[in-house]
Amino acid sequence: MCGIYGFVGNSDASKNIIEGLRRLEYRGYDSWGISVIKNNEIVTVKNTILLNEVKDSSIKSLSGSTIGIGHNRWATHGGVTINNAHPHYSTDKSFVLAQNGIVENYQELKKKLILKGYNFITQTDTEVIVRLVESKLTKTTDLKEALRLAFLDLEGRNTVILLSLKNNQIISIRNGSPLVVGLGKHEIFFASDTLSFADKAEKVIYMNDLEMAENVGDKVHLYDVKNGKELKIKEHKITDANSDINHDGYDHFMLKEIVEQKDTIKAAVAYSEEELKPILDALKKAKHVYTIGAGTASFAAGMIAYYLRKHANINVTELRSYEVESYIHLFNKGDLLIAVSQSGETADTIEAIELAKKKGVKIASIVNMMGSTITRISDLPYFTRSGPEICVASTKAFTAQCAWGLLVALTAVGKYKEVRKDIHSLSESLENYFTDKKFEEIKAVAKKIKNKEHFFVLGRGQNYYISLEGSLKVKEITYKHFEGFAGGELKHGVIALIEKDTPVFV
Ligand code: GLU
Repeated sequence: MCGIYGFVGNSDASKNIIEGLRRLEYRGYDSWGISVIKNNEIVTVKNTILLNEVKDSSIKSLSGSTIGIGHNRWATHGGVTINNAHPHYSTDKSFVLAQNGIVENYQELKKKLILKGYNFITQTDTEVIVRLVESKLTKTTDLKEALRLAFLDLEGRNTVILLSLKNNQIISIRNGSPLVVGLGKHEIFFASDTLSFADKAEKVIYMNDLEMAENVGDKVHLYDVKNGKELKIKEHKITDANSDINHDGYDHFMLKEIVEQKDTIKAAVAYSEEELKPILDALKKAKHVYTIGAGTASFAAGMIAYYLRKHANINVTELRSYEVESYIHLFNKGDLLIAVSQSGETADTIEAIELAKKKGVKIASIVNMMGSTITRISDLPYFTRSGPEICVASTKAFTAQCAWGLLVALTAVGKYKEVRKDIHSLSESLENYFTDKKFEEIKAVAKKIKNKEHFFVLGRGQNYYISLEGSLKVKEITYKHFEGFAGGELKHGVIALIEKDTPVFV
């Protein structure tokens, strides 16, 4: 996934960018780079040592600038080296560029550019964009136009950010990977998510695919990449839900987010019956209903489908976003797809939604991050309202999605009051669940089994989804082999893997 961050303002750019890139670390990265304009040149520092291990002395050369861009790279083309880390310079060093995504036709473009005499010094697909912009600059002197024209030649999902020395400017295009623009007092932020600048900016512009943003001084302009025409800007206020990003006294975010579930399951069911009516109507009218998600959200999507089948008597098919291919020809006008995502930016899920939309399928969604892509391309967006989930291992977002699913399923059969009461009393019981004593008990179990290599998690019915999510969770955290199974599988093979002393969670 990786991340992009750009800053123009009055304070130190490198400080802002480093902080921004650190907040984007949860998206995963293997190397990083920062470029700023200083003393009429672009100064760049890159590294494959992760940001929190970097010594202040090595980034000192960046301080004293008020404009710059940064990039967290997750290498797809070319190894993890300092040379391949972004941003990448134009030959005349007048601009640098960073990219999130993959240029799918990079080989073809590279061949043509080499024939034209351009030199390549990295193995990345990103450098193809840089040289392509240079080739467009032989036809126009306008850098923004050259970037736009180059972008139109690219295939794949790409978001790019460019820092121009001549214009003292940042230009950025979104397509696929997320990009938002934050507006503070005489400060502008370009970033992969709102969270990374939420405490510094007052407003945010959510960009759509194939839109280009640039700063002219401290003003932002927005353009349609397809025709270059200027677009009207819609600014949104940054809410508390976007900006609460503190540990709040917990040792780390995961712990905080686990304990917060007492509040977040309640927040997810804070919808009135009136507000639920659109999805209930859509469920009633739908020819066929699908739920969809990837990773943790795919297990929540399974759970929501389970609730709808079991409680609301609706025949729901649960899908994994990345395995949707065999269903596409079955999608029809009149069907309903319920998309589940924490970030609202899950690429596989967005792709599946786009395919379904083309077939005339109605899209509902349950997403945590307001303003994200999935919420904007949905006909019926719903929000878990869990607050930012910083920890990569999802906890509170998963249970909030499940709680919302139960709310919808039971409201569909007239049990709105009952389900809300149940979730509220569950929330109350969680209030006193995570005591010091409980944590000591958990630690004692962890200590006892920590040296084992294989673990199994079994569950039936709704707990089947919990077994899958539970095992994924511990896998992500411990790097050990955890496997979730349907309880019924136990007599069909799994038992062969379970020996004396193998830990099994039920
Ligand atoms: N494809 C580019 C590379 O491998 C960008 C990867 C990313 O999104 O960080 O360098």
